[in-house]
Order: sequence, then C-alpha cells, then structure tokens
Amino acid sequence: MKKIGILTSGGDAPGMNACIRAAVRTAVLNDIKVLGFYRGYEGLIENDSKELTRYDVRNIIHRGGTFLKTARSSDFKTLDGRLRASKVIRSHGLDGMIVIGGDGSFTGANLLSIEHDIPVIVCPGTIDNDLFGTDYTIGYQTAVDTALDAVDNIRDTAASHNRLFFVEVMGRDAGLIALRTGIAAGAEGILIPETPTDLNQLVNYLKTDFKKKRRSGIIIVAEGDSEGGAYEVAKKVQEQFPNWETKVTVLGHIQRGGKPNGFDRILASRMGHGALLALKQGRNREMIGIKAGKLVHIPIEKAIKHNVAISQYLLDLVKALS
Ligand code: ADP
Repeated sequence: MKKIGILTSGGDAPGMNACIRAAVRTAVLNDIKVLGFYRGYEGLIENDSKELTRYDVRNIIHRGGTFLKTARSSDFKTLDGRLRASKVIRSHGLDGMIVIGGDGSFTGANLLSIEHDIPVIVCPGTIDNDLFGTDYTIGYQTAVDTALDAVDNIRDTAASHNRLFFVEVMGRDAGLIALRTGIAAGAEGILIPETPTDLNQLVNYLKTDFKKKRRSGIIIVAEGDSEGGAYEVAKKVQEQFPNWETKVTVLGHIQRGGKPNGFDRILASRMGHGALLALKQGRNREMIGIKAGKLVHIPIEKAIKHNVAISQYLLDLVKALS
C-alpha cells in the first residue's frame, strides 16, 4: 500500500479533524501517502484534492467541523457519478479510501467499493450516534455536552420565572441526543421519535404532579418526534394551560459545531488510526466501531441496515427520575 485517499462527507461532527489527523499521521509512519479530498464526494468527483503531510494536520485536533470541508453530492448517488469518482481515484493510483461520515456516506462508499473494486474503510462521524455496531460515533458526546450546556442555562431562566420550556434538540430519526441530554439535565419530560408520544400523558403529568410540586420545568423534544418539533408540542400543551407561560428554544446548529470534547478526540484518534491500519491489512468495506471500549470492524452493510435500538434501561431511568 503506497497511497490512499481520505474525505469527510455528510453532516459535520466535532472530532472529524482528529480522525483525519490520526489517519494521516499513522499513514506517514507506515510510509503511505495520503491525498485529502475537499467537500466529500463532490470534491472527489471534481478531483479537488491535496496531498496531506503530517504538518497539514497540525493544530486541528481541537477544532470542530472538518478542515477538509464536507458536502452532500447528488451526483455520487448515480452510477455515472461513482464511475467518475473511481476514475479520479485510479488516476492518482490510490490503493484505498477512508471515508468519515454517517450512514448515507457509508452507503455511497460501499457502492463505490463494490462497483469499482476499490477498498474502503469508513469511520462513523455523526452527532446522531445512530449507527449499528458501534457504541459511540465521533461527535455524539460533544453534541450532548453542547446541548446540555444550553439546557442548563435555560433552566436558570425557567426556574427564575416559573416557566415551562420546550427545548428542541437535533435528531430527525434518532432520539439519543434528546435522551442523554434530558437525563443529564434532569428534564421533566423527554419526547423522542423511537417511542410513541402520548401528549395526554404529558398534559396529565403537568396538571397533577408538576403543577403541585413545581412551577417551572424543561421538556426536551427531539426534532423528529411524532408530535412534531418543540413549537408544535408547546402549542398543543399551551392550549390546555392558557394561563401558563410556555417558551420554546430550538437549539439547532449550535449542537453541530464546537470543539470536540476529550472523549471525542480520543475516540476519533483511535478510529482514524484503526482505519489506516485496517486498509493496510487489506480489510475492505468495513466500519471501524467501538464496542465495550475496544475497536471493532463491522461490515458496512451491517452498520447501515440495522437500526439502533434505544436502550430500555435509559427509558426506564427517565421514568424513574423525572
Ligand atoms: P450522512 O453521511 O451524514 O448520513 P447524507 O445522508 O447526506 O449524510 O449522505 C452524504 C452523501 O453520501 C450524500 O450527499 C451522497 O453523496 C452520499 N450518499 C448518500 N446516500 C447514498 C446512496 N444511497 N447511494 C450513494 N451515495 C449516497
């Protein structure tokens, strides 16, 4: 193995830079050259690339986002787009690719490998933590920390003014950020897409327990909840309590960026290192995951086909503690 390519794709996640850095530094140590492609698959198809030395990845381990930039490429979803990408890869004489991204990026990487016989190893870089075969994805813990900081601030105001806040966190299909943030923030309610939301139950809870004992509170709503986002839920609840002051905060994109926390920097470093070694060992179409603290290799097809089940234990914990 003489030369490989690397790119980041899909939604950015804190720790992607640390992952690139680890892959590049491990490659250099193994006398392997690395070509970085900018803007994900878009830059791959357009051959927007640069050779990365160990110095190019200096001073990035602590930075959020991805210095290679990321993009969504509709061309890459087509056979022709992937054919063009494969030609670029061949023109550089690359022996394999490392792709850092989420399940969409993995699907694309898998097809590229199958259709054009190009070895690929992928690293899970997504704040959603929704990939099967890994306990954690790069950026997830940082996103929870960021959401938690914001919710803590909101709680001060909620408590001072006796207000009920509905805070929307990211998670169109996955409620893991909402669940963890809610538990850590001591939220009074957590609404997530994976479980049916019973607004009557929430209203009853607010009418009885909550109204008697507390006069302020935080309800965390994942953006993909079946009852709609935080605005929708707040509107429906407000109708039942016309005299209460309810407020809505949508955290939005502040959850994506920010410097990666220590956990994500180490996770990303291990995964980038592991991805390069996996390619070198001749592995293909696998995701680097982490299970019970150990790096594992999971076939990409498994990682993208299976849904991540939400932990019943955590759901019970929410019930017990809220
Ligand atoms: P993520 O990787 O974070 O899930 P996306 O779903 O937006 O983000 O996917 C990122 C990119 O991966 C897409 O813009 C596209 O280029 C590629 N991709 C996604 N789905 C497919 C697919 N079914 N076939 C081929 N490429 C895909």
